Amino acid sequence: MSTGAAKKQSYKAEGGTKNEENAVNGASAWERVRLRLQVELGEEVFSSWFGCVSLEDASAGVVRLSAPTLFLKGWIKSHYNDRLLQLWQEEISSVRRVDVVQRSALRVVPAPLEAVAASPARAEQAGFAESSTDRFAGSPLDPRLTFDNFCEGRSNDVAARAARAVAAAPEGSAPIYNPLFIHAGVGLGKTHLLQAIAHQARVSDPRRRVLYLTVERFAFQFISALREKSALDFKEKIRSIDILLIDDMQFLTGRTVQQEFCHMLNALLDSARQIVVAADRPPAELEGVDERVRSRLKGGVVVGMAEPDLTMRRDILDTRLKSACERNPSLDISEPVLDYVAHTVTTNGRDLDGALNRLICRADFSDGPITMDIAEFAIADLVGAREPRRIRIEDIQKIVARHYNVSKHDLLSARRTRTIVRPRQIAMYLAKTMTPRSFPEIGKRFGGRDHTTVLHAVRKIEEMVSADHTLAQEIELLKRMIQD
Ligand code: ADP
Ligand code: MG
Repeated sequence: MSTGAAKKQSYKAEGGTKNEENAVNGASAWERVRLRLQVELGEEVFSSWFGCVSLEDASAGVVRLSAPTLFLKGWIKSHYNDRLLQLWQEEISSVRRVDVVQRSALRVVPAPLEAVAASPARAEQAGFAESSTDRFAGSPLDPRLTFDNFCEGRSNDVAARAARAVAAAPEGSAPIYNPLFIHAGVGLGKTHLLQAIAHQARVSDPRRRVLYLTVERFAFQFISALREKSALDFKEKIRSIDILLIDDMQFLTGRTVQQEFCHMLNALLDSARQIVVAADRPPAELEGVDERVRSRLKGGVVVGMAEPDLTMRRDILDTRLKSACERNPSLDISEPVLDYVAHTVTTNGRDLDGALNRLICRADFSDGPITMDIAEFAIADLVGAREPRRIRIEDIQKIVARHYNVSKHDLLSARRTRTIVRPRQIAMYLAKTMTPRSFPEIGKRFGGRDHTTVLHAVRKIEEMVSADHTLAQEIELLKRMIQD
């Protein structure tokens, strides 16, 4: 943790003046608070509790932080509120209070999306005691999850096209894909697509009544309605909508709820309303779900989305970085670092988001550029514990040749032009450091060279790497490409 300690020191050194200047920049104060917490708590604890906490607002002496779940919010409040307040006060002396709120509760659903929700009066009449409108409303929408921000590639373009078609259909037209069932593993963009449909459908025809609901919310509302003896009201409301978007279908449980869900599904489908469902597996594999529901879902259009390929991962990072730059134009994360992240974080959009957020946080804090080292440290835990693959010398030669735009034939030849000698030495160096092969073996594989030539190449590159930062980064990138 030596880097952490160093940062803490540099923080302290500039801390004095910061206190007085205060207020101006809540965001940068927040980054500093985060960084200090990170140092104090250690990377692991920090990212468990604060990884998803964001700053909503800092004004009039009140700092508002948001956490994605009620649980997290409660935990942070009970365990870290005092420390947070202290840290904030050291940044901005006028801060009196730190509030933590639940994120989804913050985002206000725009009016047309709530069209289906009961009016407050109606809901009260229906007997919803607390927070009356909420219970009948859809789940909150995140304004960032639009089609514009959704990257498409081979792994998801069918799903994306179907989703766009659903969103663009004019009111009253018979649904083409109904129900549309989108399945994919975690973080691959299901929620993003559903919410994009909600946003887009509203734009293309504001009269359409659109409801986005997680299955849990559906169950919660239905059960509350039963308890309050307003189940009929609830059913009536659900059935009056034009597009129903149901997220996380795999969590549908309980007999009564399933039955009701089944009725609802049938009623909506029979009256030609559009239904879109997302789940982490195809309908046939939804074991806990009633067979009738499953077969109804199977009867529509079922599309899956797979893990993003390299191009798409890079695309997602670029899209995200672009919107981050709109908020902070001085943000600068270099191409090689982005390439590195796209190569390393191979799992899904959520992890890519997480990786980029960490880099943005570092970039905001540090003065210099984000080097490969910093990037590597920042995202270490997101890198899947992949089995180290057995690396072959042929792969090294192929990738190095392609990277430097020389032919593999040249790489192995006796030619001694500079443009070929350097890539050849780099390839030998990588062969030595990335495989268990001996110097003579490597020599043999590089056109029958003597082992001393290989030894010389390895020493030469080692020497250059320690003096030349750009070359070091380039070699790191090559290593990633070879490992992929
Ligand atoms: P899921 O619901 O499938 O678990 P989400 O829709 O919540 O996944 O996606 C997780 C994160 O990754 C979100 O921030 C989302 O915007 C992002 N993401 C996933 N896939 C894509 C994509 N194809 N293009 C842009 N962002 C994506
Ligand atoms: Mg989701």
